[in-house]
Amino acid sequence: MPRNVYTADHETFRETAREFVERSLKPRAQQFIDARSIDREVWIEAGKQGLLGLEVPETYGGSEARDFRFNAILAEELSKFNAAASSCFGIHTDCVAPYLVDLGTDEQKQRWLPGFCTGEIITAIAMTEPSGGSDLAALKSTAVRDGEDWILNGSKTFITNGYQADLVVVAARTSPDKGAKGITLFGVETGMPGFERGRKFDKVGQDESDTAELFFTDVRIPGANVIGEVDRGFIAMMERLPQERVGAAVSNSARPADPGRDDRLRQGTQGLRSADRFVPAQQVPHRRALQTKLEVTQAYVDDCIEAHNERKLTAIDAAKAKWWSAQVQNDVLDACVQLYGGYGYMNEYRVARAWRDARVTKIWAGSNEIMKELIGRDLGL
Ligand SMILES: Cc1cc2nc3c(=O)[nH]c(=O)nc-3n(C[C@H](O)[C@H](O)[C@H](O)COP(=O)(O)OP(=O)(O)OC[C@H]3O[C@@H](n4cnc5c(N)ncnc54)[C@H](O)[C@@H]3O)c2cc1C
Repeated sequence: MPRNVYTADHETFRETAREFVERSLKPRAQQFIDARSIDREVWIEAGKQGLLGLEVPETYGGSEARDFRFNAILAEELSKFNAAASSCFGIHTDCVAPYLVDLGTDEQKQRWLPGFCTGEIITAIAMTEPSGGSDLAALKSTAVRDGEDWILNGSKTFITNGYQADLVVVAARTSPDKGAKGITLFGVETGMPGFERGRKFDKVGQDESDTAELFFTDVRIPGANVIGEVDRGFIAMMERLPQERVGAAVSNSARPADPGRDDRLRQGTQGLRSADRFVPAQQVPHRRALQTKLEVTQAYVDDCIEAHNERKLTAIDAAKAKWWSAQVQNDVLDACVQLYGGYGYMNEYRVARAWRDARVTKIWAGSNEIMKELIGRDLGL
């Protein structure tokens, strides 16, 4: 099926994104794995290519595209390189950007957004805590007012870009008795006394992404770093999670999972192998089924991209796109590993890496169980 979601302008932008992948990411692939992060100089290169400030007004150094299809193109191209690149840049461009752009004060925008666009300020968003991430309203980190400032205590875990982020949007409880209505967002910056990072996690997949624990001990946060309104942080997150989820769905459905169509999936240390080696005749119907699953999923995700662009995407549709695409991605990649036989289980084969990388998509951005819970509630179940 031809895709209708993109115009010629988007396809031109795709070339920029592809060029960035070819020139700045591919040659350093092993370096990222060894460092468990994407180097800052690569972020700066992304900034120079205009890839980071897609949602940021021109006054603050962005391109003010106001069109999520550009974000989606970037996510697709990064995902084709690897899932970790898509998640690291996606957290910055799709997840954090809306908090700073929609909710930031003029002073905050002047302070943070130009560096956000050049890649000099790498960002993260910290919601999940060691006690649990699914029930956001129950988060335990606290921020207590002290004159004009706030004193932040607590910890966060599994934070993408957490180790190298210069600015972290942190959700903390500001009104102990008000549940979801007592949470506020704060901009926590590198160098603030009492803000420390734990280790970079050793993950099952997405080796290249920096995923870390963050600790806050009596961190003094100036009132000027409150993002949005006090006690309205939960609502701010709920309003912006659909964009995170549709972005996740784009990455989930963009991953090349069909060995017959992607040379990278056939490359091993022994060089290029013939597609036939991996696709015996009896597997052909199976491959057709996989391809169908991917294309049908992508069609729904494309509709979500368009709806989001028109500000019509509901939280429920975003939840459907997120869980369905994550499930299909995992099913398809698992079948691809099977198709490759023993080779599919070898890390040197791209399909094995893609399979490991994909596992987390059913867990993060709101687990698939939570997505189904939201859909069930909407149906009155
Ligand atoms: C690699 C990686 C990167 C991440 N990046 C970030 C990030 O940048 N920022 C951030 O804030 N978080 C991040 N996360 C955290 C992620 O969003 C959480 O892991 C996720 O929300 C699940 O929370 P949890 O791990 O605490 O599991 P829990 O909430 O403890 O859930 C455990 C299990 O119980 C299920 N469950 C929980 N409640 C229900 C329910 N009501 N009904 C049915 N089932 C339920 C869950 O689906 C899950 O299977 C990341 C996680 C990973 C692994």
